[in-house]
Amino acid sequence: MPPASGIYVDGEWVESSTGETTGVEDPATGETVGEIHVASASDAERAIEAAVGAQAEWAATPGPERGAILRRTGELLAERKDGVAETLTREEGKTLAEASGEVQRAVDIFHYYGEKAREIGGTVKAASSSEKRLRTEKEPLGTVSLITPWNYPIAIPAWKLAPALATGNTAVLKPATVAPGPSRAIVECLAEAGLPAGVANYVTGSGSELGPVLTEHEDVDGVSFTGSTVVGTGVYQSAAADMKRVQCEMGGKNPTVVAPSADFEAAVEAVGAGAFGVTGQACTACSRAVVHEDVYDEFVSAVADYAESLTVGSGLDDVDMGPHVTADELESTLEYVDIARDEGATLVTGGGRPSDDDAAAGHFVEPTVFADVESDMRIAREEVFGPVLAVIEVSDLDEAIAVANDVEFGLSASIFTQDLSETHAFTDRVEAGVAKVNEKTTGLELHVPFGGYKGSSTNTYREQGDAAIDFFTSTKTVYLN
Ligand code: NAP
Repeated sequence: MPPASGIYVDGEWVESSTGETTGVEDPATGETVGEIHVASASDAERAIEAAVGAQAEWAATPGPERGAILRRTGELLAERKDGVAETLTREEGKTLAEASGEVQRAVDIFHYYGEKAREIGGTVKAASSSEKRLRTEKEPLGTVSLITPWNYPIAIPAWKLAPALATGNTAVLKPATVAPGPSRAIVECLAEAGLPAGVANYVTGSGSELGPVLTEHEDVDGVSFTGSTVVGTGVYQSAAADMKRVQCEMGGKNPTVVAPSADFEAAVEAVGAGAFGVTGQACTACSRAVVHEDVYDEFVSAVADYAESLTVGSGLDDVDMGPHVTADELESTLEYVDIARDEGATLVTGGGRPSDDDAAAGHFVEPTVFADVESDMRIAREEVFGPVLAVIEVSDLDEAIAVANDVEFGLSASIFTQDLSETHAFTDRVEAGVAKVNEKTTGLELHVPFGGYKGSSTNTYREQGDAAIDFFTSTKTVYLN
C-alpha cells in the first residue's frame, strides 16, 4: 500500500495536524489501496492563508507564463497517464478504459487552459467621444475553494483548477474522501511543473469538517462545488451569505426521449451506454428512457438485451462495467430497486448482485431495467446514481417533453428522432442545461459551457470553456478620458 502523502500546503507535502489517516478502499475487492491524511479545520485555514499569501504575485505573473506551467502540467500528467488511470480504477471502480479516458480529459483540460491563459484580458468598447477610451478588464476573483466529488475524481478537479489558475486565482482543492489519488497526481504535476508555493493547495478529510471553513472563510472569494444536491444546497447558503461568488453543480435525472422515427438501434445503444456506463455513476447518466408507445415494447426488450450483454467485474479486468464506489452507494441502489418494485414498476432485468463468488467482496450490482414506470414514481423522480434505467411510455411528443421536464433536476436531456420539427420542439422546450439530439446524455466537449437548470445547479455561471473564465474573474470597466 502506498504511504499516505499528506496534505499540500504552501508548496510542501505535510502531515495534517490531527495526525490521523484513513484508508482508501478498492470497491472491487474491499482491500485498502491507499491512505489519506485527515485534515482539520485549522489545516484548511492554513491552506487558505497560504493561497491568500501567494495570490498577488500569481495574479501579476503574465498569462503566458501561467499558461506554460499549466501546459507543462498537462504533459507531466500525460506521462503518468497509465499509472493514474490504474489508481483511479482502484479507488473509484470504473473500468480502466473509462479511467484512461478520464485522465486524458484532464490532460486536455490543462492544455486547453494553458493556451487560454494567453488570451485572458478584456475588450475595447466604442466611447461616446473621441477624447475617451473605454475598455473592460478581467481580473481574478482572488482565492477560491474547489470542492469535488468522487465520480470523476480527476476530470472535475482539473476543470476547476485549470481555469482558476489560468485566470490568476490561487486555490484550495478538497477532493472527495473516497477517491483522492487522481487529484493528488494533478497537484504533484503542478508542483513539478514549477507552480509557485501557495498557488494550489490540497486538503483531504471530511467534507462536513472542512466544508464550513472552505465555504465561509472571509478570505475566500469564490467557491466552486460539484456534488450532491443536498450538500450543494448547504454550500450555496453558507458561501453566499457574505456575497462570495458561488457555483454549485449537482445531481441529475436525465431523460432520453425515443420517438417513433428514431434510428432504433442507435437509440438503444445510446440509452444503454448512458445508463450503464461508469456504473450509472454520472451526473449526466440516462436514468429515464421516455419512449413512444409505437416502439415501447420493442425498446424495453432491446435495452434489456443490451443490459444483459454487459460483463460486470473489477475495472482492472476486461469488463464492461465496474462496481459501485462504496457499500453505501450499492445499498442505496438496491433500496431503489425495492422502492421501484413496491411502487408497481416491472423489473425487466437485473435488480440484484451478480451471483458468482468473485463478486462477493466487491460492491457489484447488475445493470437494471424497470418498465411500466409512471412519471410520479420515486424511481422516475429521484437520482439513483447507479445503473438503473426507468422506462416510461408516452403517446406523443408533448407528453414526452412534459415527462422529461417533470423532475426537480435539469442537467442533460436527449432525444432520438429523424423529424426536424421534433428536434426543434425538444431543444426549445426541454428544461436542461445540455440538450442533445441523437446523442447519449453522457459525454461532454471540454470547450462548451456545462451546467444545469433547476435543482441540478445554482444556474448562475457555467463550467468549462469560456464560461469557467467568466466564473473565476470579475469584470472591471475602465474609462480613460
Ligand atoms: P457529495 O457527497 O455531495 O460530496 C461532494 C464533495 O463535497 C466531497 O468532496 C465531500 O467531501 C464534500 N462535502 C461533504 N459534506 C460537505 C459540507 N458540509 N460542506 C462542503 N463540502 C462537503 O457528492 P458525491 O457523493 O461525492 O458525488 C456524487 C454527486 O455529485 C451526485 O449527486 C452527482 O450527480 C453529483 N455530480 C454532479 C456533477 C455536475 O457537474 N452536475 C458532476 C459529477 C457529480 P467528503 O468526500 O469528505 O464527504
